[in-house]
Amino acid sequence: MAVPAEPVALGGVSLAGATMGTTWSVRAYCAPTRNPHALHAIAQAALDDIVAQMSPWVEDSDLVRYNRAAPGSVHALPEAFADVLRCALDIATRSEGAFDPALGALVDLWGFGPSPSRHRIPGDAELQALRMRRGPSLRALFEEDPPRLRQPGGVTLDFCAIAKGHGADLVAHRLRAANVPAALVEVGGELFGYGRKPDGTPWRVVVEGCAEESNPRPGTEPPPLRTVELDGRAIATSGDRWHGFEHEGRRLSHSIDPRTGRPVHDAPVAVSVIEASAMQADAWATALTVMGAEVGLAFAERHDIAARFLVRDGERLVERVSARFDDLSEIAD
Ligand code: ADP
Ligand code: MG
Repeated sequence: MAVPAEPVALGGVSLAGATMGTTWSVRAYCAPTRNPHALHAIAQAALDDIVAQMSPWVEDSDLVRYNRAAPGSVHALPEAFADVLRCALDIATRSEGAFDPALGALVDLWGFGPSPSRHRIPGDAELQALRMRRGPSLRALFEEDPPRLRQPGGVTLDFCAIAKGHGADLVAHRLRAANVPAALVEVGGELFGYGRKPDGTPWRVVVEGCAEESNPRPGTEPPPLRTVELDGRAIATSGDRWHGFEHEGRRLSHSIDPRTGRPVHDAPVAVSVIEASAMQADAWATALTVMGAEVGLAFAERHDIAARFLVRDGERLVERVSARFDDLSEIAD
């Protein structure tokens, strides 16, 4: 008769580091004999791979080489790059163009990219010229088996609205492959969790879009505190709490509306999305920010997307959630 194995006691590990101009962290449970330095190296290596392939700030990244390549050249894509591009193309189509992974030149023009002319207002002629220059659709330039992308001249990719999410997914994937049974991975605020804690419960996180939620203005009621369980699930939040800049008293969003070529006007304070992967959640959070709370919420309802919009109503912060987000979250008391 088989004797049941002694359950292995799991030990908690916390890891942290820096990547993509922001920070990352991991909380995990694994056998207490595991060396945390080795786990740290696995996570950092996964993120370094993404930076080496997709950073617009790294001179010889695959993305920069593609953006600068001669018209007509064809580029073999590394695996992670191809995964991100497939997801970006899919969400670009499904969001009816609100998400656009080929906005690099516009992002730069508005000063949110790697170009040194930070935070200046481009003229109408400049914007018009850039929008005219946009070539054939990206999908038409992409070929599978093996994955390759043609540069017709002037196409500038920008994966900044999706790469952090992919980072969280990839770190989780590699930790799981290294026999770590449960981890909560966070990259720049985007989260992916899998597995169960030793007490059998999944990871539970608080949904937060801006600091004011936990520290409301005097005399105003904050939106309800929500928690989400992440067991093979992700949540990402778009917001302008760190980026964006002021111009003539108006706050310019770092999310660009591809239809106008301009920063989103009156962007929601924050948009959070729950998805099966952090990559999808990250991209949808940007797409719904571009649509705005009104159109975005109706879109999320139509497409059964779990989204929460945090918007300003006078002095108050209020939340608006899709039915799916309400289902997947719990209001804490
Ligand atoms: P947030 O946390 O607010 O989502 P991200 O860093 O994830 O911020 O994404 C913002 C970045 O995404 C911008 O700096 C720009 O590089 C890129 N971006 C801006 N607008 C779009 C868009 N409509 N579609 C895809 N990427 C965009
Ligand atoms: Mg994002």
